[in-house]
Amino acid sequence: MTVCPRCSYSLVLLGKRRRYKCAKCGGLFLQKPIEDIEFRRWNEKQREFAREDLKRDFEELWKSYKALNPIRREHPRLKLSEEDKKQKCKEHYQKNRNRILQQNRLWVQKNKEKLSEHKKQYYQQNKDKIISKRKEYYLNNKEKVKERMKLWWANNRDATRIAKREYYVRFKKRINAKARIRYGLRKAFALQTPENDTYKPYNPDSPSQMAEFYFNNYF
Ligand SMILES: [Zn+2]
Repeated sequence: MTVCPRCSYSLVLLGKRRRYKCAKCGGLFLQKPIEDIEFRRWNEKQREFAREDLKRDFEELWKSYKALNPIRREHPRLKLSEEDKKQKCKEHYQKNRNRILQQNRLWVQKNKEKLSEHKKQYYQQNKDKIISKRKEYYLNNKEKVKERMKLWWANNRDATRIAKREYYVRFKKRINAKARIRYGLRKAFALQTPENDTYKPYNPDSPSQMAEFYFNNYF
């Protein structure tokens, strides 16, 4: 039934004028928008009914399901506290440690590319934070880090040697060109220092402090 949007009293259709009229407040409304509103209301009601039907069906199904599993209903699950849960997790881990580790290893092997991609992305997004954290760690654990580095170098001596060699072969041209420029600049700086004036033979091992500073900071 159509009702007045102003006072909710029932409307009367004036067919010729395509309008609805309210007998209570005297309002006059176009036919189409009133009927649209009416349709929307009707539609919503229908949907609500459908929802209720579904709910009823589900409840009935649930009841029949529960009736099939009476034992479970008689022994409800024990509710564990957070502490107990943690303890259970720990026990599970200890019991299945090898299997879990093996699984993790397998997963890592299978998803190597995905992992490295993810790591790269994470690094790019958190670059500043990571670098500052590393610096902080290094400053607080200098000795430990140096010790570890030494060990790593000792353990990976051959591998790093090969890697260095490969790097050199790959970028030979660039490396040599850079070295040439460095050498030239070093010579020029060295010649400007009093110990290396033009009358004495050139000694690249004792360049000026200025030159040392320049090389250490800019090359
Ligand atoms: Zn009205």
